[in-house]
This record gives sequence, structure tokens and C-alpha cells, in this order.
Amino acid sequence: MINKEREEYNKKNREYYHRNSKRINRKRREYYLKNNEEAKRKRREHYFKNNEEIRMRKNQYYYKNKKRFNEYSKKWYQKNRDKILEKQKKYYLENRDRILEYNRKNKEIISKKISLNNLRIKKLVLGHYSNGKLKCVRCGFSDIRALSIDHINGGGTLHRKQIRGRGSMMYRWLIKNNFPKGYMTLCMNCNIIKRFTNHENIKFINDD
Ligand SMILES: [Zn+2]
Repeated sequence: MINKEREEYNKKNREYYHRNSKRINRKRREYYLKNNEEAKRKRREHYFKNNEEIRMRKNQYYYKNKKRFNEYSKKWYQKNRDKILEKQKKYYLENRDRILEYNRKNKEIISKKISLNNLRIKKLVLGHYSNGKLKCVRCGFSDIRALSIDHINGGGTLHRKQIRGRGSMMYRWLIKNNFPKGYMTLCMNCNIIKRFTNHENIKFINDD
């Protein structure tokens, strides 16, 4: 179908749904309860068959409506913050032993997940501060292991102390603050050369 036709078709569908939502949902529920296992199996099958496409569509939808989603969830969180925190705390206390046991048993998987997530975050931030290239902006070096974020005007050590951490905390801070200006992706070589030429080296030696 051509895009326009598809839009029209979707619009009609939506309108139809809104007009008849109660009836449709009741029917769906009835059908689901009657054919519970069958429906589950079908859905699973459908998902596995079209896994890639479904995920891609979900991603696209998310990015298209990202701002709206984020605003909504932020508002929701602020409104329900106390309730959420209390619930989390209660859940933790009630299931403390089970959680600790689970963490002990899955130590390796968990730390692998954490480091994968940190890598993802690092890539996102370093990519942003190198115009999407994931390279040192001075020399083009691209091994992510030796890339890091540089404060264009210096003062990195102090800032790292303020946000109580380096590495992943720094990357998280940058994301949280909507990628502020004044940073760039540099490799270790260029980083150190810059520090020496800007006389940031004195601070560098003392603080690290
Ligand atoms: Zn470099």
C-alpha cells in the first residue's frame, strides 16, 4: 500500500476502534478467556516469526514519539515518586533474601549485563561528541577502549569529583543533562597532549 493510503486506512481503523472500543474489548476478552492457551501460542508464534520487523517498528514508533513519551513518563514519575520509592523499598525488604540469593547465583551474568550496558552508554556519548563518528575528533583514532570525553576548556578532574565518579557516571551525567556543550571525544594520546600544551598537566599529575 502507498503511504497515504495506509495512513487513511489506519485512520479509519482507529476511528472505528474508538467508536466500538467497548464492544471490541469485551469480545477480545471473551475470546481470549475461551482460547487462552491457543491465543498465547499464536501470539508467541507470530512474535517469533516477525521478531525483527516488530522490534524495528516499535523502535521507529518510539523515536518518532520520543519527546512525548519522555515528557509523559517524567511527569508520571514525579507525580508518583514517593509511592514508587516506597513500593520498591517494600518489595526489596520483603524479598531481600531471594534477591540476594539471585544476585549471588547470577553474579557473572549480572556483571556482564552491567558492563554491556555501560559500553552501550559509552558508545552513545562518545558518538554524540564526535558527530556520530565514534572517533577521536583530533586524530581519528577509533578504538573505543582508548577514547574518552574531554572538557574542551579543562576542569575535568574537578567536575568528575563534583559528580562523584568517572567513566560511566560521567557518561550518565551527560545523557541526563541532555548532552551539554563544551565536551569532545578524544583519544588518550590527544587528551594528554592537550593537557600538556594547555598546562592542565599540573592538575592532572596532582589529582590522578
Ligand atoms: Zn586522538
